[in-house]
Amino acid sequence: MTHFLHQPLQTLDPEVAALIAQEGQRQSDRLELVASENHISLAQREAGGSVLADTTVEGYPGARFLSASADVDALEQLAIARACRLFGARFANVQPHSGTQANQAALLALLRPGDTLLSMDLRAGGHFSHGAGGTLSGDWFTARHYGVDPHTGLIDPDKVLSLARQHRPRLIIAGASAYPRSIDFARFAAIAHEVGALLLVDMAHVAGLVATGHFPNPLPHADVVTTTTYKNLRGPRGGLILCNEPALAARLDAALCPGLQGTPLMQMVAAKAVAFGEALQPEFQAYSAQVLRNARALGAGLAARGIDQLTGGTDVPFVVAHLRPLGVQAAPLVRALDALQVGCSAVPVPGDANFEQAHGLRLGVSALTTRGMAEAECDVVAGIVAEAGRALAAGLPPPAGAADTVRALCRRFPLAPVGVDAPASLATALSTTRSCP
Ligand SMILES: *Cc1c(COP(=O)(O)O)cnc(C)c1O
Repeated sequence: MTHFLHQPLQTLDPEVAALIAQEGQRQSDRLELVASENHISLAQREAGGSVLADTTVEGYPGARFLSASADVDALEQLAIARACRLFGARFANVQPHSGTQANQAALLALLRPGDTLLSMDLRAGGHFSHGAGGTLSGDWFTARHYGVDPHTGLIDPDKVLSLARQHRPRLIIAGASAYPRSIDFARFAAIAHEVGALLLVDMAHVAGLVATGHFPNPLPHADVVTTTTYKNLRGPRGGLILCNEPALAARLDAALCPGLQGTPLMQMVAAKAVAFGEALQPEFQAYSAQVLRNARALGAGLAARGIDQLTGGTDVPFVVAHLRPLGVQAAPLVRALDALQVGCSAVPVPGDANFEQAHGLRLGVSALTTRGMAEAECDVVAGIVAEAGRALAAGLPPPAGAADTVRALCRRFPLAPVGVDAPASLATALSTTRSCP
């Protein structure tokens, strides 16, 4: 009965192999500017697909409820130590399955149901796990929101302070998914302190920059810091929780497991350890510096072609192009660019009522930079985006030649091999694909 155990994917399940191979091909043939996307190293893929997928433990190193193993404890401790070193934290929890679960653990540790939290409005660039309706964070807690100044697009700390005085939240959340500027964490901490609130900073989109000192580190100011490990940090899919207070660390650990999760994905913990190790190398310093240069080159390229950026610049791995002056909404432009194999996403800008009719185009450079692209390539990308935007505004088809330019760039900056051998005939393998009846 060991028949299944030793066959490669290509032989055992050509259908799944074919779909993975096609996804790999899609990734290589596309300029990915969705800001959450990045490409991980082969080393992380190896760790993430390792025998640790079979390892069941529960609890934390030295205090497992289930199946203690010295090797696995050492591995988790290594991931923790590297995360602490990377961000200058005293405590790290490397087990969250996602950024959302890291945030849920923080809320579970810090709040009681019904408590008030103050966070950034989804329409101003916040994340849905910070108290949006229809999520656990929004349904279990009373969420109040601050936005951005409608003219500058910037967070107004005085406004945050007056909202905090008005609503007396138990927790203030700083950090966002579509805010292109640096955040004054010290000021947020002062506001939290004044109203007796705790401060949670979610640095998901800037964690790589924080690790290398290219974005302010929230650890000296926040009670708790959460992040995803993918996106700009270029690690595997998952979350991370950091803090400096021993008592708080114990509450956060308990909130995550057994509060929210059972066994950790040890293969992903191993991949996180590898990612943190990579981020501690000088090469990652150079990567972060290039990410910032690329984001600014992309913004400058857009500006040179008459397309404004929200706030007029960027301190993060993406820019938010402001499309209202161009007379187009973001969603149709996202679709037009998608057809050219350029990925990006629509985000609201001040004055937009919702995501569907948003006028912001979020363009991230973390993935392009991983491929080795620099300022010159980002300027080419700015040209493609600007031309596609103008064509759309004029009711014309996307510019001729843009798809060729994308193809040529992708070929010049190849990705690592997919790692799964496609079956001899993709078409045959996929012909058996069925959806539910
Ligand atoms: C992406 C993101 C998350 C959520 O990450 P998931 O892994 O998708 O749950 C949380 N917070 C912010 C600010 C994000 O941008």
